[in-house]
Amino acid sequence: MTVSEFDIIERYFRRQAVQRDDVVLGIGDDAAVLQVPADRQLVVAMDTLVAGRHFPPQTAAFDIGWKALAVNLSDLAAMGARPTWATLSLTLPAVDEDWLEGFASGFFQLAGQYQVALVGGDTTRGPLSVTVQVHGLVASGKALRRAGARAGQRLFVTGTLGDAACALQALSAGHSVAPDRLRRLNRPEPRVEFGLVLAETGAAVIDISDGLLADLGHLLDASHCGATVWIDRLPAAPGGEAGTPPGVLDCQLQGGDDYELCFSVDAGQVETLTRSARRLQVPLTEIGVIETQPGIRCRHEDGSLYTPSGTGFDHFRDVAND
Ligand code: ADP
Ligand code: MG
Repeated sequence: MTVSEFDIIERYFRRQAVQRDDVVLGIGDDAAVLQVPADRQLVVAMDTLVAGRHFPPQTAAFDIGWKALAVNLSDLAAMGARPTWATLSLTLPAVDEDWLEGFASGFFQLAGQYQVALVGGDTTRGPLSVTVQVHGLVASGKALRRAGARAGQRLFVTGTLGDAACALQALSAGHSVAPDRLRRLNRPEPRVEFGLVLAETGAAVIDISDGLLADLGHLLDASHCGATVWIDRLPAAPGGEAGTPPGVLDCQLQGGDDYELCFSVDAGQVETLTRSARRLQVPLTEIGVIETQPGIRCRHEDGSLYTPSGTGFDHFRDVAND
């Protein structure tokens, strides 16, 4: 029995637990119709995961479904937006019902956690690739940006850094990976609630998807300033790092797939933010300070400069003669 595109949509994507009043028309027509409140702005983000490039080919379908949504929700978190709707473009080499079942379960489990309704998409045949677009809402004028960091502000990250990159490195080398680390690679937890807290502060924010140095560099470029990062303070997951430096530091600075938030705020906001983070059980670490001099300076506690192994990033262009 052949399974049509229509069957796939009906079986795996039409049925979902999340019901929202603001979905005027969801899956099944030529397009979705969505109600945006008058005092809100619509925030839209899209990310594609390509098999073999964004996830190892052996990745479980559940994890691919989860991660495809998670990486998008992380972008909304960095904007301070509340997620509302998603669309899904799925390119499949063949119809594999077990795979579809797993994929949909992973996607909908995370969608349910944040009340995100899947309102449409596209299904085509080809090399495995997943594109998700997410939509979220912010109070008008309140979306968080990369721009706006100012010299003297304090620099923070949520969670831990480098876990996913370490896991990927180990997997690629054929080593076994502790379940906690693997979960950080395959099922990232977007910092949605903390993004909503940050929205109250007007912080400069970016989510770390391409590594701390690269993404912090984007924030600094947009803000026309630089930073010192205290590398001995970078948060690492407990347990996994023993015996393998300096690989872990490289992963923390340059690895990808963290999906943590990096932000700068005035000193006066730190106490309130720390309290909110504790309430949400989001670890916060102060990793540096914003400065007028462009570029990123990585320093040890004693002030000595550390030059990261891979200096492929443009952001090091200004580190000279310091
Ligand atoms: P059209 O040919 O008009 O583009 P499709 O046959 O592609 O319509 O899709 C029919 C309906 O199913 C549309 O509402 C579309 O948004 C939805 N849809 C298609 N693929 C998916 C998917 N992978 N996930 C969710 N909704 C989907
Ligand atoms: Mg279509």
